[in-house]
Amino acid sequence: MMSPAAAMLTILRDALPSGAPLHAPVFEGREWEYVKDCLDTGWVSTAGEYVDRFEHLIRDRVGSSDAIAAVNGTAALHVLLVAIGVEAGDEVIIPALTFVATANSVAHVGATPHFADIERTTLGLDPARLDAYLTAVGEVRGDVLCNKMTGAPIRAIVAVHVFGHPCDMGGLVTVARKFNLDLLEDAAESLGSIHGGTPTGAIGRAGILSFNGNKTITTGGGGAIVTNDTALGDRIRHLATTAKKSHAWAYEHDAVGFNCRMPNINAALGCAQIELLDRFVTEKRGLADWYRDRLQSVGGAEFVDEAPGNHSNFWLNAVLLDDQAQRDQLLEDAHTHNIGLRPAWRPMHWLPMYAGCPRSDLSVTEDICARLVNLPSGVGTAREIAQQISGAASS
Ligand SMILES: *Cc1c(COP(=O)(O)O)cnc(C)c1O
Repeated sequence: MMSPAAAMLTILRDALPSGAPLHAPVFEGREWEYVKDCLDTGWVSTAGEYVDRFEHLIRDRVGSSDAIAAVNGTAALHVLLVAIGVEAGDEVIIPALTFVATANSVAHVGATPHFADIERTTLGLDPARLDAYLTAVGEVRGDVLCNKMTGAPIRAIVAVHVFGHPCDMGGLVTVARKFNLDLLEDAAESLGSIHGGTPTGAIGRAGILSFNGNKTITTGGGGAIVTNDTALGDRIRHLATTAKKSHAWAYEHDAVGFNCRMPNINAALGCAQIELLDRFVTEKRGLADWYRDRLQSVGGAEFVDEAPGNHSNFWLNAVLLDDQAQRDQLLEDAHTHNIGLRPAWRPMHWLPMYAGCPRSDLSVTEDICARLVNLPSGVGTAREIAQQISGAASS
């Protein structure tokens, strides 16, 4: 019998074009038109009508009352953490299974990432185990939850919708409320994903998006903060714009601000891309259907699916092999055949700069990281597969 890795490689090699990337942008809407308009009018920098339009389109999409476009997702999370009052010496709960940017943003504030474990179903923070963990490790001083071991205040939870799959936000809202913590969403990967009828991003107090080149839609580089908290949104816009007080000519700044608003030329790309989002998500979900269907026949390989109640954008498809040896074999063989498979990110607590950070038991994270492989998931790949399916059906 073929090993799971060999069986998977056969399926992928037969169907995917050589060089299929993990993800790649597609520009086929009004990108040229909008970007040209920026150049023609001279409005290329951090003010201009495309920024306003893009923020409006993001609000519509996420269902938030406010959206502030930023230079990237990392900067967006940094300024958001500052705006909610996270300070040097504080701790912020995040999953260890995430892109390094989540931890970096916490560290840029001078705060410490505090890692908690994930659920197998969503790959996001596990509310029940987080509740038990905070009960064990936390101690309320005044009205602030502190880490008994370090004495540091725990200020917030940043939930990450990993690979686009929404986490159990209902459960996390309850835990955050119980311990008086701000709940934020790193929705960098999940634009277009819906949890229990609500788009991800602003289910918690606030969240961030990313429009990096490898995300579902792109502005080249870019991000946004989304929130329903009007005062917080105003504060973020102010902080992100050098904390300059509004005045016709005077330079007056009232805080240590950031320069992290999105330039108009990037927002122009964003306006064109977000018009394509529904189509892209539909096509990406079609590719996920194909992977799910094909992987059913492979023993020892489990497709990472959306949890009940979730509608995922399937930003990155993923499969879990039975063990690390199978995973390693699949990665090696796929790379020999020029197919863009990737392992999961190295979990944050295994990176040298975060190895000493406080953490709960992370056994689910470690198990998942050892066995997971991300599969080519871009819209281009979705189209190749869709063509093969319709070709096979008509021949
Ligand atoms: C992409 C990403 C970010 C950061 O976004 P950038 O725009 O690349 O700075 C943050 N968190 C997660 C989970 C991401 O995937």
